[in-house]
Amino acid sequence: MQRNQQYLPPELDSLWLHTAPELRLKPIWPIEAERSDVVIIGAGITGLRAALELASQGLEVLVLEAGDVGWGASGRSGGQVNPIMRLGSKALEQGLGKPAATRLIKATIQSANEVFSVIKQHDIDCDAVQKGWLQVAHCASAAKALTELAHDWQAYGASVRCLSAAETQHLSGSAYYHAALLHEEAGHIQPLSYARGLARAAMAHGARIYTHNAVTAVKKQGPQAWTVQLGDTRIQAKTVLLCTNGYTSGVSPKSDKSYLPFTPIQLATEPLSTELYHAILPQEHTIADSRRLIFYGRKTADKRLVFGGLGKNIRSDRDYERIKREAVHIFPLLKNVKWEYQWGGNIAMTEDSLPHIHELDRGFLAALGCNGRGVAMGTVLGRVLAEKVLQGGDELDVPVTAVKTIKWHGFKKMMAPHVLPVLGCLDKMDK
Ligand SMILES: Cc1cc2nc3c(=O)[nH]c(=O)nc-3n(C[C@H](O)[C@H](O)[C@H](O)COP(=O)(O)OP(=O)(O)OC[C@H]3O[C@@H](n4cnc5c(N)ncnc54)[C@H](O)[C@@H]3O)c2cc1C
Repeated sequence: MQRNQQYLPPELDSLWLHTAPELRLKPIWPIEAERSDVVIIGAGITGLRAALELASQGLEVLVLEAGDVGWGASGRSGGQVNPIMRLGSKALEQGLGKPAATRLIKATIQSANEVFSVIKQHDIDCDAVQKGWLQVAHCASAAKALTELAHDWQAYGASVRCLSAAETQHLSGSAYYHAALLHEEAGHIQPLSYARGLARAAMAHGARIYTHNAVTAVKKQGPQAWTVQLGDTRIQAKTVLLCTNGYTSGVSPKSDKSYLPFTPIQLATEPLSTELYHAILPQEHTIADSRRLIFYGRKTADKRLVFGGLGKNIRSDRDYERIKREAVHIFPLLKNVKWEYQWGGNIAMTEDSLPHIHELDRGFLAALGCNGRGVAMGTVLGRVLAEKVLQGGDELDVPVTAVKTIKWHGFKKMMAPHVLPVLGCLDKMDK
């Protein structure tokens, strides 16, 4: 067997790479399997949660990852565990029908609790903090829209409270915002530690994980019989799960065109002084705002602030400078603080803003479209994929649908990074 020579080193030096517990894996080559019940492509939160659930039910599970465990967005994210979507229940009901919308809304509301309970159950060391999320409004109309969203989701049981401008300032440490929603069950984690912890738990149940092995093709051999190719290497599987979210490319052409990749970028400060640490997000909430460019932040176990927003690409120094200016605008006390790390990654945005599980063919499923909220939603998607494999059925927390390609996909994908200045202008014009 010849090894497929694609090797993906870490793209940038993130804070998380320095603070996550090490993960020991078996040698990456040769892959000691010619067949497996399930092959999972992608070792992010989605793929690893699916691996954990399937392996714990006694299935043979093989995870193949092009980079390292958590190499994609899962190991680079802001680590915010956010249990709500951007859509109200009416839009969801119109899109999915009432029963499926209700299941998805309820699963989303429970998604933060689900993350923290997985962490507890598998004793994952990932600096988990469940103290709530401030979803903050940058203008009066956004405050109104957030209040409506809160009422809508409260009707389904969401633990969300509307905060006045004064309460928002008190809890965020910033005078910038008009109002906020406080999501009490939200929180934050060290994302790479979480991904590695999921991998460790999956392996403890017998899952095999091979990193630095990119899948090049998935081919149908018959009903529930698939060949997964890595260059010259072929592995047979009854079921294949494509869990590649914003890095989906080349394995399922239709999936490639079902989402648009966007690029959040973020920075971490030096450890904050005691004064700053207590002034910014004093009660350890996370924060994310209502702007189209989505600015967000949270503190870390080593007392830094991680702050980010959408960028053009992960290497654009100009964009990192813009994000730093924005951080100082929101928290003026950061003016003289040093920024020590900067990094970013890909997320998958879908046209309907919903996460998707697609049945690409019998026994070939894909999950993608976390729309920048995949810490909690990826954890749900992985579980639901496992339920679909184990039990079949259609009444799942995330509906299983046929994949739809986005019209003018190539053009929209090319334009995506270039619309950011326009989005920034629109944000500034909001009243
Ligand atoms: C900078 C940043 C900040 C973010 N902040 C937050 C946040 O605070 N809260 C939140 O909820 N969400 C956040 N997100 C989004 C969140 O990280 C993602 O939605 C989530 O991690 C997606 O998980 P996943 O497992 O589906 O995909 P990923 O973690 O992206 O994993 C996909 C994996 O598939 C692998 N892969 C791709 N192709 C192949 C192939 N052919 N063969 C083998 N492997 C392959 C990739 O290498 C990758 O590791 C952020 C994202 C970024 C980039």
